[in-house]
Amino acid sequence: GQCVAVCPTGALSEKDETGAVLRAIADPAKTVVVQVAPAVRTALGEEFGMAPGTLVTGKLAAALRRLDFDYVFDTDFAADLTIMEEASELLDRLTRHLGGDTSVKLPIITSCCPAWVNHLEKRFPDLLDYPSTARSPMQMFGSIAKSYLAEKIGVKRQEMVVVSVMPCVAKKAECAREEFAVDGNRDVDITLTTRELASLIKRANIDFHRLEDDDFDSPLGESTGAAVIFGTTGGVIEAAARSAYEFHTGETLEEVDFKALRGFDGIRSATVDFAGIDIKIGIAHGLANARVLMEEIRKGTSPYHAIEVMACPGGCIGGGGQPFHQGDESVIKARQQALYSEDAGKVIRKSHENPHIKKLYEEYLGEPLGEKPHALLHTHYMDRSGRKTK
Ligand code: SF4
Repeated sequence: GQCVAVCPTGALSEKDETGAVLRAIADPAKTVVVQVAPAVRTALGEEFGMAPGTLVTGKLAAALRRLDFDYVFDTDFAADLTIMEEASELLDRLTRHLGGDTSVKLPIITSCCPAWVNHLEKRFPDLLDYPSTARSPMQMFGSIAKSYLAEKIGVKRQEMVVVSVMPCVAKKAECAREEFAVDGNRDVDITLTTRELASLIKRANIDFHRLEDDDFDSPLGESTGAAVIFGTTGGVIEAAARSAYEFHTGETLEEVDFKALRGFDGIRSATVDFAGIDIKIGIAHGLANARVLMEEIRKGTSPYHAIEVMACPGGCIGGGGQPFHQGDESVIKARQQALYSEDAGKVIRKSHENPHIKKLYEEYLGEPLGEKPHALLHTHYMDRSGRKTK
């Protein structure tokens, strides 16, 4: 069909991956855990004839339960975790840099988009000290599921299969990176796209329209509004700013909507006042736009303290694994609006106020940027430019 014409390799892997998921679910020796990215819930409905921007979070959870996953969780939980680490890293680097330590590089650059990370490793191998070392929410989720959760529910790592549903094709390669495995056992075993999930639901004969709303399981299913907006351009840095502000000032941030960070221009910038320190933030979506900001860093002219980059136009809501939108920007904008309204409707809108995240640090992780987070939640980057190093 359509997909063969657009992305032949995507079509091939689509078939294989859904089969692997069905086999895992059918295997009684496996505990199969699924996580869903924020952008999926704003677009999945389109595969069932709903208008773009229809939020189907409850039906999505219900459909995954009907497909017989053992645990239905939310990548948003791990997005809150990513913010805990990334906001702490931003402040740590900022404090040391402003304190005169020039070995600490600024701007910090977000690293949750694997297409962007690949591009950075190939094209900017001289700038690998800049991206945040925080893993993406998907990978943080896998790591926590196969350690903390596995211990809690008494399942061995090898008996657990972690499936992710992502708006993204590049996530399939991300979960296969060897640094995200322990003794060859991946933290995230299988990644499906939004379209692949839709095809599974259709093949299982589930009447999506008639599903009653359901909730995600606890504890890795609880999240804040900050996590929800990860799915749109500008959302990661807005979520980070909400937490970093409070970490830095010790004061409550009353106005959580950083409107200056929102919008749709390919490159945007805004200044956020952190109790007297002006933090300059840059945002780029689309790799060509990102390259402009990276060239500034290379030349030493970058004005920013922090930069968010997403490879896809609009961020993950416009990802390559989403229902096709034929370049129609109004579809992307409707999906974006849906995420902002889900955020606005949440009681808790700052990642560090998620009670389950607090408990995870108290019970298991210790402090952000500490030893255990370093081992489980951070990563490193490699020169993949193919240039010869001495
Ligand atoms: Fe994937 Fe696109 Fe999101 Fe990057 S912006 S994580 S490539 S969907």
